[in-house]
Order: sequence, then C-alpha cells, then structure tokens
Amino acid sequence: MLGGGHSPVSPKLGLGVDQVLMLQMVLADLSLVTLTKDGTYKQHINGTITTSDDTDLFWAARGGGGGTFGVVTLIKYKLHLPPSKHTLYICSFSTVTQPGKSLKEIRNGMNSVMQDLPEEFGGYLLTGTTCYTTFPSCKMAAYALYVFHHWGAVEENQRWFDKLEAESDKLSEYLLSGPCSLTEYSTFYEYVKTLPNITYQEVDMDGTFLTSSEYNEDFIKKESNLNAASFRAQSPMSATYIRLGGQTRNTSSGATAVNPLFRNAMWTIAYGGNARQVKRYGAIIKSTVAAKGQYFSECDDTLDPGEWQEEFWGQSNYDRLLDIKRKYDPDNDFTCKQCVGSNATRYKISLYLFLLIFFLY
Ligand SMILES: Cc1cc2nc3c(=O)[nH]c(=O)nc-3n(C[C@H](O)[C@H](O)[C@H](O)COP(=O)(O)OP(=O)(O)OC[C@H]3O[C@@H](n4cnc5c(N)ncnc54)[C@H](O)[C@@H]3O)c2cc1C
Repeated sequence: MLGGGHSPVSPKLGLGVDQVLMLQMVLADLSLVTLTKDGTYKQHINGTITTSDDTDLFWAARGGGGGTFGVVTLIKYKLHLPPSKHTLYICSFSTVTQPGKSLKEIRNGMNSVMQDLPEEFGGYLLTGTTCYTTFPSCKMAAYALYVFHHWGAVEENQRWFDKLEAESDKLSEYLLSGPCSLTEYSTFYEYVKTLPNITYQEVDMDGTFLTSSEYNEDFIKKESNLNAASFRAQSPMSATYIRLGGQTRNTSSGATAVNPLFRNAMWTIAYGGNARQVKRYGAIIKSTVAAKGQYFSECDDTLDPGEWQEEFWGQSNYDRLLDIKRKYDPDNDFTCKQCVGSNATRYKISLYLFLLIFFLY
C-alpha cells in the first residue's frame, strides 16, 4: 500500500493511498510520529513531544514506497459503505487460431464499449500466450480475458451490461467457453472467498501507464503483433491491464507521492515473461506512450541507476521525496532496492571495486 495500491474498485474509490487518514511511523531517530493532512505529532525517544504543521512525511509515505522513511506501525483508513452487491462479469476469448488478427478484432470491439464504462466498472484485461500442454511439447494457446468487477447490482447499470453483452455476442466466434459469465455476490469478500489458491511463478517483468488516447489503433496493432510473435515462437508471455480512471483521476496529482501519471492513465499495465521477451515487448509497447512511467510495486527491478527514479515517481516527485528522505533518514538506515535514496549505485561500485581488488591479487 505504501507504494500506491490499485484494486478493482479504484475507478470507484481511488487508490489505496487516497484512503489513508493517518499513519504512525517509527523513524530512524527512534521517535514515533503521527502523520495526518494537518501536520506531524512527534514523540521523541526522551519522552518530549513536538508538533508541527509539516505534512511532507505524510505526503511521502503515501506513494513514496515501503521500507524507505520508517517503519509504519499503524494506518487509519477512510471506510466506504459497501455496494448493494458485487458483480463479476467475465468474458474469456481464445485467440488461438490467428493470435494477432483476432486479438485486434476483440480489442477494437470491446474497446468501443469500454472507453465509456462508468466508474462502477473496474477490473482487468489479461492477455497473452501460454502452453496448455507441455508434454511431449508445448502446445500454445493465445487468450484475451476480460474481468469486470462491478460495484453494485446488475440492474443498477443494466444498459452497460447489455452493451458489453451485445459486443461480446458479435465476437462469439472467439469466445472460449460459451457466453460471458455474470455472477452477483452479496459482498466483495464473498467473491474473494471463492478464489482458489494460486501458485506463483517468478518472471521478469516491466510495465507502463497508458492513457485512453494512447490505447489506440496503433497500440492495439503493436500489441497484436507481439502476441502473434510470442505464439509463433512458442514462448509464453502475459500482460495484465488494470483499469484506472474515475476516482483515481479525481485526486490531484500532487496530493500523494505516487507517480502523477497514475492520475491521467486509463490503465496500468504489467507484463511478464522471459527477460528477452520483456525487453522486446517493453521497447515496442513503450514506443507508443508519451511519458515513460510504471507502478513502483509492480515494476521492472532491473532498470539502470538513474532510470527508475523518474519512471516510478516522475522527476519532480522524486526530488521532493529525496529531500524528505535526507531530512528524516540522513544515514540511510532504511533502504531497499530501487527505493528513494537507495544506494544501488554504491553497491555496484563497491562490487566492482571488490572484483578489481580480487583480480589484482
Ligand atoms: C501476485 C501479486 C499480486 C499483486 N497485486 C497487486 C494489486 O492488485 N494491487 C497493487 O496495488 N499491488 C499489487 N501487487 C504489488 C503489492 O502491492 C506490493 O508488492 C506490496 O508492496 C506488497 O505489500 P506487503 O505489505 O506484502 O509488502 P512487502 O513485500 O512485505 O514489502 C514491500 C516493501 O515495503 C516495506 N515494508 C513492509 N512493511 C512495512 C512497514 N510496516 N513499514 C514500512 N515499510 C514496510 C518492505 O521493507 C519492502 O520494501 C501484487 C504483487 C504480487 C506479487
């Protein structure tokens, strides 16, 4: 959460960091600070208390990344009344016959409705290729999965469900296992309880933000070609698009420390596969976006020193975060890979020095 926090209800409610009312944190000097939009309340190790209207740390902790400014011991969140129902609408398409061509058709069709979906609709697009049998050899499938989470009962947005239904009917030749499925749950938690245990696999990954105007014909063409290439090469690759917009956009980009691109984007995309594919995919996909950036918590962890600062936070947010870091943790006691003020360069230089000395001996 300290890095941002998106979810299927982000279009309706905003990011995780947008819900934070108060944070308590133990700082490097062992003081305990209580941070709110009104200022900082500090209990020093010697028992004295100071207060100030400084909100820098409250700003930094909401998006500046975990493990950076102190140890968070308490978070107070804004709560929201639950919707009447939580609805899940899933359309699962197979693009196995002609991966590139059919993905393009599916994307264009579904987009015609999705561009204007109201903020009650959040969720994911998952697309890619996978081996559906691995023995005796990999048999490839290419897929496009649309997972819509709807805040409320179906009848509250019936006309949008009808539009989605009509569009998916037009694409019925690609539907994987019959029509799109519609399930109403009494609460979001009831839905969560139905999820199976998932086994995770380590992959190389990278990502980008995408505005609605960047999610255009050119992008779709490039994405479809990549999909077809991965299918032909029998080299699985997957991408997850997380829907933003709505309330995510309604919080001013300076209110929290997350990358300002979060506030304009329609999607945040994370893609994974082997290192070579991820690089190739990234180079092509990112050539279509105006501003480079990615979500700190779902990022490429192999970016060069000097690259990730701007990609994760935007340069001006990063500069401010670094000032705050130097003020509250001058000795860099809290550090992690590719975090504000992290000494990745120093590590590399030390390693090179160590290797040099080793070989000289
Ligand atoms: C399979 C998978 C699915 C994901 N899905 C989503 C998603 O839907 N939405 C989303 O927004 N993100 C998602 N993420 C990213 C996820 O939110 C981040 O990895 C997040 O940082 C995990 O939080 P954690 O508390 O488990 O942190 P950890 O992985 O334990 O820690 C993350 C960082 O925070 C630091 N940290 C941990 N606790 C504290 C603390 N109390 N105070 C200060 N620093 C601390 C750690 O030192 C570390 O640097 C996903 C990640 C994975 C692997």
